[in-house]
Amino acid sequence: MALQEGLARARGWLAKPRPMLIGGEWVMAASGETFETLDPATEESIVAVAKGGPEDVDRAVAAARRAFEPGSPWRRMTPRSRSRILRRLADLLQENRDELAALESLDNGKPYTKILSGDIDFSTNILYYMAGLADKIEGSVIPISATEVPWPAELGAQGPADYLVYTLREPVGVVGSIIPWNFPLLMAVFKSAPVLTTGCTMVLKPAEQTPLTALRFGELILEAGVPEGVVNVVPGFGDAGAALANHLDVDKIAFTGSTEVGRLILKAAAGNLKRLTLELGGKSPNVIFADADIDAAIAGAAHSIFFNHGECCTAGSRLYVERPAYERVVAGLVEKARRLKLGSGLDAATDMGPMISQEQMDRILGFISSGISEGANIAVGGKRFGDRGYFVEPTVITDVREEMTCQREEIFGPVLTVVPFDTAEEAIAAANGSRYGLAAAVWTRDISKAHKTARALRAGTVWINSYHADDASIPRGGYKESGWGRELGLEGIVDYLQTKAVIAQL
Ligand code: NAP
Ligand code: MG
Repeated sequence: MALQEGLARARGWLAKPRPMLIGGEWVMAASGETFETLDPATEESIVAVAKGGPEDVDRAVAAARRAFEPGSPWRRMTPRSRSRILRRLADLLQENRDELAALESLDNGKPYTKILSGDIDFSTNILYYMAGLADKIEGSVIPISATEVPWPAELGAQGPADYLVYTLREPVGVVGSIIPWNFPLLMAVFKSAPVLTTGCTMVLKPAEQTPLTALRFGELILEAGVPEGVVNVVPGFGDAGAALANHLDVDKIAFTGSTEVGRLILKAAAGNLKRLTLELGGKSPNVIFADADIDAAIAGAAHSIFFNHGECCTAGSRLYVERPAYERVVAGLVEKARRLKLGSGLDAATDMGPMISQEQMDRILGFISSGISEGANIAVGGKRFGDRGYFVEPTVITDVREEMTCQREEIFGPVLTVVPFDTAEEAIAAANGSRYGLAAAVWTRDISKAHKTARALRAGTVWINSYHADDASIPRGGYKESGWGRELGLEGIVDYLQTKAVIAQL
């Protein structure tokens, strides 16, 4: 029922081409161009969306800069008022949850009920969590022991006790946020929550495949009372993202996406030395010891890779199993994979929806066939499912060697490789033998082994006897080539602030 209502409201909203949000106004692209966003379950167009280009990015950055000017309504707003706005926005997500979930399911393909809990409730909790931080951004008073630089004698001797030194933590300014298609609304919230908490302003560029919920979220942002120009939403392609990353009046880029584009953004940021946070790819190892609760470990391993169709930066895509448990784990995974029901995200029986695009489906199938041609075997899946929509069967690959492409590259789909091991040292070395370091997990009943392994794994998140458990209070981010900086938790606002030291002679 809720789904039908949500879908009806979504269809009403989709009845006309969707404009972009610049300076509080809903406008079409300066070029007049639009692009179609597709339903990946049917390959049919959902709606035309304004196609933002460099000129629109320019307009949006100018609006964000105006909103950040000293004395603007946003800059004059008290921290507690920002906090209230964040709470209002959280409530608006809940009030519109069925419509948002329907839009997301149409645009991205993921199951509607999973969007409600995994995307919308998590988004809501992030906004509440950050709302609690908005009025707790504090500097400090610093006792000094020396004044160091010789003071002109005619002004009289001054000692450390004659000074008051304190720090102010100020918003970094205009933030360009570039996000991917795997969690479209959630990523928009990941990026806008710290902006609103700290008093920055932003231009948000959603992924070309999934612009819809970011645009609907833009409407809710205005409804929540965020002043015009504070959040601008410019849907478009990579050139719009590049224009943002290159823009000399953008102070920081917050990016989530591929390591490859992360590198391009790093280069683009050099022009005005923008601050950067980068949440990039992963190839996360999941280590099962033979003394683990094997049924739980099998369920966790299946969840780690099949959740969100494997289109998940923290997906547990490399499974290492201690040899005595290997056969049982592989058999359990095959059974779980066979039971998953693929279909439209709008069908209540669906466990897994389609991949986001033809390109992504072909890429995933390409990784699977490269594995086969390098000598790996398919324990289950391995093919496209059906002939309409971008569905890929949940896949488990065995007889994998560490040097194979399917074992090294981020596949970003429901494809798991499984490798047996004999010693903890061997498992840890293999687990750490990736250029990525986003997440990892370990399964064992031995508490000492669990924590020792957690320490040894080089990743920003390590689960013990769990996978994907998450909360707005937990900082997340990458080691190695998985990125820079942390999102969420208390650390999640650090990169949106800069510290000013004020040194006052009394
Ligand atoms: P992507 O190219 O990194 O896209 C992420 C975002 O960056 C999108 O908004 C994209 O715009 C934008 N972008 C593209 N080129 C840009 C440029 N030169 N400068 C600035 N922004 C730019 O990711 P993808 O092509 O969609 O996916 C490719 C692979 O990346 C996946 O197979 C997966 O391995 C990985 N990936 C990882 C994550 C993650 O969370 N770690 C998320 C998504 C993808 P467009 O939408 O117009 O391209
Ligand atoms: Mg789409």
